[in-house]
This record gives sequence, C-alpha cells and structure tokens, in this order.
Amino acid sequence: MKSTMQSTPLLISTLLRYGTRVHGDSEVATWTPDGARRTTYRELGDLAGRLANALRSLGVTGDQRVATFMWNNTEHLMAYLAVPSMGAVLHALNIRLFPEQLVYVARHGGSEVVIVDNTLAAPFARLLPHLPAMRHVIVNGPVDDDTRAALGEPEHIEQVHDLETLLAAHEPGFDWPEDLDENDATSMCYTSGTTGHPKGVAYSHRSNVLHAMGVAASLGVRQPDRLLIVVPLFHANAWGFPYAAMVTGCSLVMPDRFLQAEPLTAMIAAEGVTGGAGVPTIWNDLLHYLDTHEADVSSVHMLMVGGSAAPPALIRRFQEEHDIEIVHGWGMTEMSPVGSLAIPPGAAEPASDAYWAYRQAQGRLLCGVEGRIIGPDGSEQPWDGRSVGELEVRGPWITGSYYSNGSESSGEIDEMAAKFDDGWLRTGDVGTLTHDGFLVLTDRAKDVIKSGGEWISSVDLENAIMAHPDVLEASVVGVPDEKWGERPLASVVLKEGATTTVEDLRAFLEEKVAHWQVPERWALIDEVPKTSVGKFDKKVLRRRYAAGELE
Ligand code: ADP
Repeated sequence: MKSTMQSTPLLISTLLRYGTRVHGDSEVATWTPDGARRTTYRELGDLAGRLANALRSLGVTGDQRVATFMWNNTEHLMAYLAVPSMGAVLHALNIRLFPEQLVYVARHGGSEVVIVDNTLAAPFARLLPHLPAMRHVIVNGPVDDDTRAALGEPEHIEQVHDLETLLAAHEPGFDWPEDLDENDATSMCYTSGTTGHPKGVAYSHRSNVLHAMGVAASLGVRQPDRLLIVVPLFHANAWGFPYAAMVTGCSLVMPDRFLQAEPLTAMIAAEGVTGGAGVPTIWNDLLHYLDTHEADVSSVHMLMVGGSAAPPALIRRFQEEHDIEIVHGWGMTEMSPVGSLAIPPGAAEPASDAYWAYRQAQGRLLCGVEGRIIGPDGSEQPWDGRSVGELEVRGPWITGSYYSNGSESSGEIDEMAAKFDDGWLRTGDVGTLTHDGFLVLTDRAKDVIKSGGEWISSVDLENAIMAHPDVLEASVVGVPDEKWGERPLASVVLKEGATTTVEDLRAFLEEKVAHWQVPERWALIDEVPKTSVGKFDKKVLRRRYAAGELE
C-alpha cells in the first residue's frame, strides 16, 4: 500500500526558508578585533538571496561548483545556505592543506567561482595560476591594490569582485528552485588519502537535512542556545552545525581567524556562549588557559568534542572544575560527519564508574547510523563491549562511494572501492559496541601498535599519560623494533615550568597500564605536530623518529 503522505523533497532551501523566517531573530555573530558583528537570520536570508542572484549573474547555473577559501564567519555561512539552495554545489577548501594538495583538491572539485576572505587573499593568489577552471574571484572584505592585482593576474580570471559591492548590486529576493532532486549534490568535502590523493565525497540535500536533524535532536540543541563553532566550515561539513542552526534556531558565534584560548574566552563571555564544537586540542588549550587566567565561562553548559579521541582527563576536568559537559562524538568526513554522541543513559548513576565509561566512550550510534563490528576473521562480532574488530557503517548520511571526475588512476579506483564492503563503509577504526549501541574505539587500524603477538592501543597510552598533572599533550606512535616488531614511542609536551622527568612519567604510567605496554622510548618535545584540522599528526612523529630527531 502506498502512503498518503506528501513527498516534498528534503532540500537545503527548506532549511534556509524555515530558519530565516521562523527563527528570523536568531543571529550569527562573527568575532573581529573590535568585538562581534551581528547579523540576524532574517538578514542572512536576504544576503543569501543577494548572493544567489549575484552568482547567477556570473553565470553559475545548474550544478556548477562554487568554492570558498574562508574562516568561520557570517559570509561563509551565507554561502553554505545560498549555493546549495540555488542548485549549485559548495566546495569549501581546507585553507590549511599544503599548496600541492590544495591545488589537487580544488582542480578535482572543478569550481569556476571562488569566495575568498580578504585575510586569506594573498596565499590564495599564489594558488590561482594553477587553477585554470577558475573564472571569478569574490573577495570578502577590503584588500590592498597589490593583492587585488595578483588575484586578477592569471589570464583565466575574468574578474575580481568585492563581495559587499556585489551583494549590494543584487536583489535580496531569489526564487529558490523547488524542483531539485533531494539526492542531488549540495556540497563536497575531501578527506586525506592515506596513500594516494585526497578523496572527495559529495553530500546530498537529503543527507544534509537528515544529518542536521539527527545531530540537533541527539545533541539536544535548542533555540536559546548560542553555539561557538570552532570546527572549521572547511572541514567535514562543520559537523552539520550551519544546517542544524536553521533547524533549531540556535544562534551561532563564529570565531573567524581568532582561534586561540584568549579570544575564545573573550567571545564566550561577550556573547553568552552556551555550547560549542571543536577538536580536543582546542578545548584542551582552553582548559589549560583557564588554569592560569581569570575568565568567565559560566554561560557554557556543553562543549562537543570529536575528530579524534577526547582524553578522559579533559572530559572529567571540564565537568568537575567548570561544570561544563563535554559531549564526546565520533564521525568521519564520509559520514557528514557525525556517527555517535556520548550522552550517558539516565540509568547510569552520575559520577559512578559506569557513568564515566559512557561519557568517555565515542558514544551511542545516532539513529540513522547502522554499525557492525567485523572481527579479524571477517565475521560479524556480537555487541558485547568486548569483541573487537573494525567498525563498518551504513545509512542515509553515509557516502556510498567517492567522487570521481574520471581523472583517477586504476590504483586509486581500486583503493576507493576497497573502502566499501557490500554496501557498508569500512571506517578503518577498531573497537567494540556495547549491548546498548555505545561505540568504544581502541584505535585507528593504522595506529594500533603491534608489539610481539599483542596489540597496544596508542590512544590508551596517550590518555594515561595525559592524566599526569604536568602533561599538556602526549602522542604515542608505533616505531620499528628488532625484537618485538613494533614498540610505542611516547612524545610528551610538559606544561610550562614543569620539572617532571621521563622516569617520573614512566613510573606514573606503570601504575596505570600493563607493564609490557609501558614505552621504552620517550621524547620531551615543545609541541605535538598537528594536521590541517588540528589532530595529532602521527605521520610526522614517525618520520621524525626515523630521521633520528626524537631520541
Ligand atoms: P582525516 O582522515 O583527514 O582525519 P576525518 O576528519 O574524516 O578526516 O577523520 C575521521 C577519523 O577521525 C575517524 O575515522 C577516526 O579515526 C577519527 N575520529 C573522529 N572522531 C573520533 C573520536 N571521537 N575518537 C577517536 N577517533 C576519532
């Protein structure tokens, strides 16, 4: 029997129209050296209409790609709403990639128009000669004459525009097309390739709408919330917050380029931030800043953390010392990206061991994300919290393949296909599922340390070391060892002024993990190298060890 329900497509324009009308008084606040500049969602809706008209006037039709090279700010949010709603495809470029990766990703995506923040215009101008498909550059904010000239220099650039002037020249009203297919692409994101090039995924209207609703409901986001979005809009769909804001009407606080703990605390106090989202390194910096500085963060009740494992010490200290709930989440670019959120069941007695185990886990799979654990022998494992294997996932906001523009080598095509197992995405993450759907990851498959016949979780060692009061950061990687095949190397950053020695750290760790897991190799370093999105960069640590720099 067919249902009697209407089959209105799930479109980004539905969120745009709803959010900017029903939640018209909510606002996006972007931080500047002089405090925040605020725009209501009603005004944002008008700006999105102007941008869509402007892009049409530059020849953007159909599913053409529009790139951004921007920080988290009002104008980037406007592009997130306008570009997919008009039927085009947004490609937010990761400003922190190395130039050759950026050129690869930008060319592969194929954008003809780009919106660039003025503070990023000079580095972008150096990329432009290598992006022959690009025709128009739109600059957000004033730039000096030299930079403007450099942007216009390549022959293929038809014109360099000033965003404000361009928006002013166009009407706010735009007839958002209603005949788009909800399965058409809205936006693209690239994940780092382990061997070959970065791999792209293309989200759909349907996947984005369902994901935004899923994240908003699971996290409990509400209209009065004011969320500080530190996770970049150029990484993994900004965890869905641009669209979840339209669904819920929560206001957004955008840090632009001011990502250090000091300006973040200023934003929190000035903007009455109630929650936020970012990788562990961001909140770890904030926590250590609060140890030594007076700052009012009392408005905050929740901070979502994900992208890599949140150290248990981070979760507990925020709760116990600042009454802030760190919500640990797990996800992947390929999954829009959120897959699980660690919200403990009501039955878990607060502050009990069971409660903390739930809080520290990667979290409960969201409704819409189906998971299974595949053991080393290829068989599906029970959800018993003990049986370990690789997690595979499927669902409406999980990619079914990687984006191909036909330029890939056969090796790359094989590598992309190998990420899927009969319709399931192989996550490359190793762990267990509990009977009630909580995911506990032990490691990334490629970071697990294989010592003799045993496996050591690099994450467990990192967490144990980071619980030491003098430790700021710690990263553990497997390095070749003649006797055991591989052994852990711990690279540790001590807090300023700390006099703790490697022997002290070793003794501390002896109390927490099995004796045979304690690393023989230690390095005290100034800073753990980070990837373009702020995760510990283990590749760099392995390279530095191989080059003899980490003894
Ligand atoms: P990249 O591969 O460039 O880091 P992603 O951001 O898509 O790109 O990374 C996804 C991966 O990050 C996951 O497969 C997982 O290994 C790791 N990850 C994300 N969140 C967590 C978490 N809460 N705990 C442990 N690992 C995580």
